[in-house]
Amino acid sequence: MASRKLLLLPGDGIGPEAMAEVRKLIAVMNAEMNAGFETDEGLVGGCAYDTHGAAISDADMEKAMAADAVLFGAVGGPKWDAVPYDVRPEAGLLRLRKDMELFANLRPAICYPALAASSSLKPEVVEGLDILILRELTGGVYFGEPKEIIDLGNGQKRGIDTQVYDTFEIERIAGVAFELARTRGNKVCSMEKRNVMKSGVLWNEVVTATHKAKYQDVELTHMLADAGGMQLVRWPKQFDVIVTDNLFGDMLSDVAAMLTGSLGMLPSASLGAPDPKTGKRKALYEPVHGSAPDIAGQGIANPIAMIASFAMCLRYSFNMVAEADRLEAAVSAVLDDGLRTRDIMSDGMTEVGTVAMGDAIVAKFRAA
Ligand code: NAD
Repeated sequence: MASRKLLLLPGDGIGPEAMAEVRKLIAVMNAEMNAGFETDEGLVGGCAYDTHGAAISDADMEKAMAADAVLFGAVGGPKWDAVPYDVRPEAGLLRLRKDMELFANLRPAICYPALAASSSLKPEVVEGLDILILRELTGGVYFGEPKEIIDLGNGQKRGIDTQVYDTFEIERIAGVAFELARTRGNKVCSMEKRNVMKSGVLWNEVVTATHKAKYQDVELTHMLADAGGMQLVRWPKQFDVIVTDNLFGDMLSDVAAMLTGSLGMLPSASLGAPDPKTGKRKALYEPVHGSAPDIAGQGIANPIAMIASFAMCLRYSFNMVAEADRLEAAVSAVLDDGLRTRDIMSDGMTEVGTVAMGDAIVAKFRAA
């Protein structure tokens, strides 16, 4: 039996509630499908600060580095609003991303047919939508130096951020985009602002060269990132994989998120480079939502974003494509049956809590 090492970091607020539903799936897969998951647990965020005085301990960081994949819940909450900046809950997630060198952030935007009516766009624009935004996560303007506020001495200050990309950073994210496209609709649209930014000119050149060298079977188009934002809202189904930098990816993935309805539905994955020896990529899977302190502890959180993040883990870390398809189909089937958590509730549907939603998905998954 294959051994698959998973580290679970449930975190704060609704993180543990959502993670509990994934634990059920792992148990079923181990007991009935011989999946061989070995799970370990750790603390991240406010709960780690309370226990260790840090947003993630060195020991848990070591576990993350040794795992095949990390499943992350959510961090933060008002209890920790005043803790020192270096140990704030989000610092745990940032350390994981940095130390694991997770440079590729995958944010799918999938609109389940049963939820098309709850999007802010017309149902025909979003129904059946299945696109993937790939955001470069470790470079660009969020990290470039200089990054400072300087006093100009004349009563004025100057805020400086630096957008900077090297060839290798663009090559590796472009490679991930083309490889992902091959497993989906075989189309990549690269977005930058080459009309006004030198980093955009280089981005465009390197993506084009990477395509020419290794991925000519994939269809490549380029779009200016502002026009891309407009097209995402006008007719999102024209896209398959969108690849873009850290800043534009941050914004475009949030726009794409809203096409599909609730935050409680949105999974994500962050991947590193393949290990030269094993070919395995470091990987972290997490829902897009936060710890939702306003509903934590009430048993009403939507576990679908966390469960769909686990489906991504099956697909991208363990190549368990059939199981991932089956889990995503189980989510869709439960929605077709009319079950809804409060965040996605609409007239005529049946409102259920976190546990009942998780149980229904597990039941459909087992039955499929
Ligand atoms: P949030 O995503 O936690 O919540 C926003 C709104 O969406 C809330 O009304 C919440 O109830 C609702 N919501 C979110 N997920 C839901 C779910 N699964 N089911 C039902 N409803 C859901 O964002 P926020 O309120 O801006 O932040 C709350 C805390 O989470 C803050 O401390 C913030 O720093 C942190 N945060 C953490 C992450 C992360 O862990 N990756 C991401 C964003 C925010």
